Amino acid sequence: MLSTFRHMSIRNKLLITVAIPLCMALGAAACFVVAADYLLFRQNLVKNVSGNANAIAMNCRAALLFDDSASAAETLSALSAIKHINSASIYKEQGDLFAQYQQEDVPTQAIPHQTTRPVGTNYEGGFLFVTQEIIHENETIGYICLVSDMSELWLRLRLYILGGIPVLLAVMIFAFFMQMPLRRLIMDPLSQLGESTRKVTEMKDYSIRAVKTGDDELGRLVDQFNEMLKQIESRDVALQEARDQLEERVRERTSALENSTQQLLEANQFLEKATRHAKEMAAQAEAANIAKGEFLANMSHEIRTPMNGVIGMVGLLLDTPLAPEQQRYAEAIHASGEVLLGLINDILDFSKIEAGKLSLEILDFDMEILLDDFVATLALRAQQKGLELVYSMEPAVPTLLRGDPGRLRQILLNLCTNSIKFTEKGEVAIFVMPEEETPETVVLRFSVRDTGIGIPEDKIPLLFQKFSQVDASITRRFGGSGLGLAISKQLAELMGGEIGVISEAGKGSEFWFTVTLEKQSEAARNKFVQPMELKGIRVLIVDDNATNREILHTRFTFWGMEVGEAESGKEALQRLHHAFDTDSPYQIAILDMQMPEMDGETLGSAIRADKRMADLRLVLLTSLGIRGDARHFSEIGFNAYLTKPFRHNELKTVLSHILLDNTSESTSPYTIATRHTAREIHNCFAQCKARILLAEDNITNQQVALGILRKMGLTADVAANGLEVLDVLSSIPYDIIFMDVQMPEMDGLEATQHIRNSNSPIRTIPIIAMTAHAMASDRDQCLEAGMNDYVAKPVSPEALAEALGKWLPEDMFGRLAQKDTPNPADNSAGDVDDATSLPVWNRENFLARIMGDENLAETLIEAFLDDIPTQISQLSEYVARQDFSSATRCAHTIKGAAANMSGEKVRRIALEIEIAAKDGNAGNLNILLSELALAMETLCLELKRFP
Ligand code: ADP
Repeated sequence: MLSTFRHMSIRNKLLITVAIPLCMALGAAACFVVAADYLLFRQNLVKNVSGNANAIAMNCRAALLFDDSASAAETLSALSAIKHINSASIYKEQGDLFAQYQQEDVPTQAIPHQTTRPVGTNYEGGFLFVTQEIIHENETIGYICLVSDMSELWLRLRLYILGGIPVLLAVMIFAFFMQMPLRRLIMDPLSQLGESTRKVTEMKDYSIRAVKTGDDELGRLVDQFNEMLKQIESRDVALQEARDQLEERVRERTSALENSTQQLLEANQFLEKATRHAKEMAAQAEAANIAKGEFLANMSHEIRTPMNGVIGMVGLLLDTPLAPEQQRYAEAIHASGEVLLGLINDILDFSKIEAGKLSLEILDFDMEILLDDFVATLALRAQQKGLELVYSMEPAVPTLLRGDPGRLRQILLNLCTNSIKFTEKGEVAIFVMPEEETPETVVLRFSVRDTGIGIPEDKIPLLFQKFSQVDASITRRFGGSGLGLAISKQLAELMGGEIGVISEAGKGSEFWFTVTLEKQSEAARNKFVQPMELKGIRVLIVDDNATNREILHTRFTFWGMEVGEAESGKEALQRLHHAFDTDSPYQIAILDMQMPEMDGETLGSAIRADKRMADLRLVLLTSLGIRGDARHFSEIGFNAYLTKPFRHNELKTVLSHILLDNTSESTSPYTIATRHTAREIHNCFAQCKARILLAEDNITNQQVALGILRKMGLTADVAANGLEVLDVLSSIPYDIIFMDVQMPEMDGLEATQHIRNSNSPIRTIPIIAMTAHAMASDRDQCLEAGMNDYVAKPVSPEALAEALGKWLPEDMFGRLAQKDTPNPADNSAGDVDDATSLPVWNRENFLARIMGDENLAETLIEAFLDDIPTQISQLSEYVARQDFSSATRCAHTIKGAAANMSGEKVRRIALEIEIAAKDGNAGNLNILLSELALAMETLCLELKRFP
């Protein structure tokens, strides 16, 4: 219903909303009037009938009292004047009909003989019944009942209805016409509005406006509608403008895009061209790089050859009697030559790394020994500048490792020589610590800290670039190629690490690098155990330098010792006394010599003056070893005396030794060796009759090599190329050939192959390559060709001596040793002697062999200390692996090297090992190995003291 209404037209809605209320109002008014009239009429009728009943009752009282029904009936008949009273009846007190009256010709109800109606008024069958008591003297004597007809009432009602309906219709028609203008007033503007909307919608013309007909709500609606159209119109205009602009922009962009696509295409073509060009250039660069590498390798060879001549000849010149001025000049040439050679080596190294040609060795080595040796070789340089050289390896660093010890040393050497170079006073400290460890590998961090000039912050990024130096004036002052750090960086990266620096100008620098190294097998590692004899020993460290104290402290704690520290002599004395008084005396005191106020020597004397501390072992550490010191300190009462930097193993041995020695007097064997002059030297090669062939095309090189051999007391024949070698070999059975690899006509490799393939006995002759190419591949090439060994050019006396010692037949070398007995002090015995009776180091013999050349002696010792510990650990591994042929070869090498150093005991034991390894006698080998390690340790200690 509601929804029907909702969907009706407004016109109908208006009609309904006017008509319905109007009808309802009229209907309600009509009903009210009818109802009121009805009620009023009835009320009047009752009042009228009741009045008549009263009057008749009064008149009939006497008739009742006298039972005169006729009189009563007569009274009743008076009612005939009242038309609407249809009948009347009077009943006695008991209810019996007494008298009655009935209007004629009027249908009415029958009058009952017995009254049944109650007193009062009631309606029944369209009639009104009024029943009243007839009272006399307060007593009911009868009843009167009047029946009135209500037809007048119905008539009135009918009249109302018949009259009302036309009136209602007339009113409604009137109302309909009345609302017509109203409808026009509302509907017309609405229709117009609707029409305008339709037009706008159909024509999409927002300029159309609805017509306003008044200022009422509809007028306002029209206004708002028009306003809306206006806004839409202006938005349309704006939209159109925006669209136009957008289209314009799109057009512009499209054309720009087309342009840039064109440009891109062009650029692409250009790029393709450039890439092609770059590829060609890269190929050319690659070729140029290869050519550069070859050129550098050849150049370095070519430069090294004359350098070999210069250095070698000057070396020889220096051995001849010279005027002091000449000596100075010659020394200067020698030193410059060495520097130049170092530079060439740097450049060669660098070009090899850049060309990716540098391959790392993988050797077993002992980090502790490597560092000990390394620090020992640096000590002199540090001492000469008055610098304290400190070094510490954390006990947690695994020492038996695999890697390239030579290259590791090279990095350390670069950093440490820089630190020493750029530090005027203070210390240079080397620290080694583990950074990361797995069961197979370890990353070690090395740091070299100095108190030198430092590096300005802005220069740090340049440091590791090639050919860069911080300051030109510094370069002029200190020299250098600017390659050292660049090479170190490359090497560290090759070894799986990094390099870096922390520095502050004027305060010092800390250069650090890391390398990843493999660990040796568990079995090999277990060889190094904590020294039992040092466990629980109480030791007091007396040193003013905190770094030194810390290093010693760490090491001693690792060895299980109980450590105390004192910063000065005064504090040391207090601590010693206190310990003594509290019954926990120190067994060892380590005193630093160089301390302010009270130096080590004074402190030692003070301690020895107290007889209570006679058992205390005193060890003096000093940076400067001076001739006669050992004796002097021994007299004061020191038990041992070590020059810094000392090896940890050495310190361990010294401590163990002095603890086992029961006499408190100094019996230390760790004395400073005395200097020997060249005049005292005997040449052990002098008696050697080895026939040596030198194959070398370069005259200068020939002279150098011949000069060195001559100095050794040896002679050699010379061949200028491979063909000549083959030629002379056919007539002379040489014992050894030193063969240059690069020679005209027939090179060394080819000549060697010819020799090895020949059927004559000469095919087994030891052939030693002489090559300027120090790469591993070159060496392999030599060995593949059948050569036995190689020496690097420029040939050094030690290399030649080592090769001779190693490759000359054993009997010839033995003969040599036996024959070499003009010096009564030389008690080197033949191989028949028991190893225990042999000297550890036959110093005189050694110096004699190298012609008393102390510089050469130092170089040889350095090389020996550098190489042999690695060889020994390698030997142990071969023995552990039961690889007897490698063990034989290794023992042979050790034997040769030891012989070269006159390390008689080591040589003898190495010989025994060689024999045992050849026989595959594993049981004997293990005993010999431990003997070798012991002898080696003592030999190293003695060698380190040279000069
Ligand atoms: P060089 O062979 O010229 O010493 P390096 O590559 O070893 O070349 O060193 C480059 C430069 O870095 C040096 O010239 C020096 O200026 C600076 N440098 C290196 N180490 C140190 C240091 N420990 N203290 C101060 N400056 C240093």
